Amino acid sequence: MGVRARMQELSPEVRKAGFDEVERGLAIHQAIAEASRCLFCHDAPCVAGCPAGVDVPGFIRRLKTRNFVGAARLIREANVFAGVCARVCPAEELCEKRCSSTNLSEPIAIAALQRFVADEEMKRGIKLPGPGAPTGKKVAVIGSGPAGLACAHELARLGHAVTVYEAEERPGGLLVHGIPRYRLPLAVAEAEVGAVLQSSAVEVKTGVRLGRDVSAADIRRSHDAVFLSPGLGYQSSLGVPGEDLPGVLQAGEFLRKVATGDDVRLAGKVVVIGGGNVAMDAACSALRCGASEVVVLYRRSRDEMPAWNREYEFAAAEGVKFEFLTTPVRFVEDGGRLTGVECVGTRLGEPDSSGRRRPEMIPGSEHIIEVPTAIVATGQAPWPGLVELFGGLAAGKGDTIEVCRETQMTPVEGVFAGGDAANGGATVVQAVAEGKRAAKAIDAYLRRVCK
Ligand SMILES: Cc1cc2nc3c(=O)[nH]c(=O)nc-3n(C[C@H](O)[C@H](O)[C@H](O)COP(=O)(O)OP(=O)(O)OC[C@H]3O[C@@H](n4cnc5c(N)ncnc54)[C@H](O)[C@@H]3O)c2cc1C
Repeated sequence: MGVRARMQELSPEVRKAGFDEVERGLAIHQAIAEASRCLFCHDAPCVAGCPAGVDVPGFIRRLKTRNFVGAARLIREANVFAGVCARVCPAEELCEKRCSSTNLSEPIAIAALQRFVADEEMKRGIKLPGPGAPTGKKVAVIGSGPAGLACAHELARLGHAVTVYEAEERPGGLLVHGIPRYRLPLAVAEAEVGAVLQSSAVEVKTGVRLGRDVSAADIRRSHDAVFLSPGLGYQSSLGVPGEDLPGVLQAGEFLRKVATGDDVRLAGKVVVIGGGNVAMDAACSALRCGASEVVVLYRRSRDEMPAWNREYEFAAAEGVKFEFLTTPVRFVEDGGRLTGVECVGTRLGEPDSSGRRRPEMIPGSEHIIEVPTAIVATGQAPWPGLVELFGGLAAGKGDTIEVCRETQMTPVEGVFAGGDAANGGATVVQAVAEGKRAAKAIDAYLRRVCK
């Protein structure tokens, strides 16, 4: 059956010296050989494993016959962020996981193949289907992350006039302002964001924040429907003394600066507090910004850590250290600057409401880790006050915007929501899927209600 193709990647020693992309893609001969391993299953389980519903066997078949651009276009029919998702999707948990249920010894490297054709197309210029015949209906999309742009693209294809309102100066959401460049180069994110905006003739108003520069009432007055996709704001606070000291950084803000090319310099040892993917990105980025040593503190054990396995292994390979069963209780200062983090050891007790065992502090285990910089990466929360902006919106779990899962519809007529703001924080491909689902429901709503 042949062995699974593997992308070349920079060694940990080389890669942690900068922000160059770590994975280097497949060569043509590797991609063709890998495509030849596909069984082209009828009712392919990999398709069901992709939230965006990419026709995986279809694109692999085109790749196999060297129709690379055709393959990429087929993917973009389902997911305009083909090159982004090929790089950042947890494919081993999605399409490739379903593939492993076939007779193959190892699943097809679907993400690597997707990346190959998306990159081939990008070299020639991405071409997406243009806008449909005008319907005369207007839709406002709040936020230009993957959820908002996927929704805007689908709506424009259906002929609706779409205006995207984006608080930042650059569109793209976390593709541009969050995910580190060594995993997702800015050129890839910008090429795909740009393609969506150009092809669909979607109007984007950047630097316009709903609730500050434009009111919900104005948005409603001037549009027939609204899609809310403002993502998550930062940051859940740790709630321990000293969190506002200089030297204590919030992971979201730190990663944002790094992703947008600010010259962020760190020195000495850095602790990162948290056990999720954002903590892993903060730790690896801290190394690249000059930290001599990075230690991740996590209050539970490795088994409970929410970070994806590959993210953990990536960080560990770069020399990031982990102190499990440890929690900070105070940031220590001298002369108004951080000098250390006082921590205490924990042991796991009974499960809490999340089903994970609750960490309990062990008396007498206090110790101070001396550091000039600590990065808090303990979670993101929805933007405060968002739900109140549109009277009638309901707050779901963790203050997310409550929606109907089939239609992304909120209880407020004509207002839909999706992406992180509604699902509480998931993946790019999930945001795309929800944006598309909302577009379909918005189209049906506009045809039914706004005749
Ligand atoms: C550091 C980091 C790394 C990640 N790595 C991965 C990964 O490897 N793989 C993966 O699949 N997912 C990853 N994710 C998650 C992924 O980025 C998100 O799930 C996805 O971007 C959500 O898309 P969205 O469109 O809902 O929101 P966002 O991408 O957050 O976009 C929301 C947009 O709305 C704008 N906005 C907010 N409020 C307003 C307002 N009031 N008015 C106007 N505009 C507003 C924001 O400025 C932003 O541009 C990562 C997230 C982070 C933080």
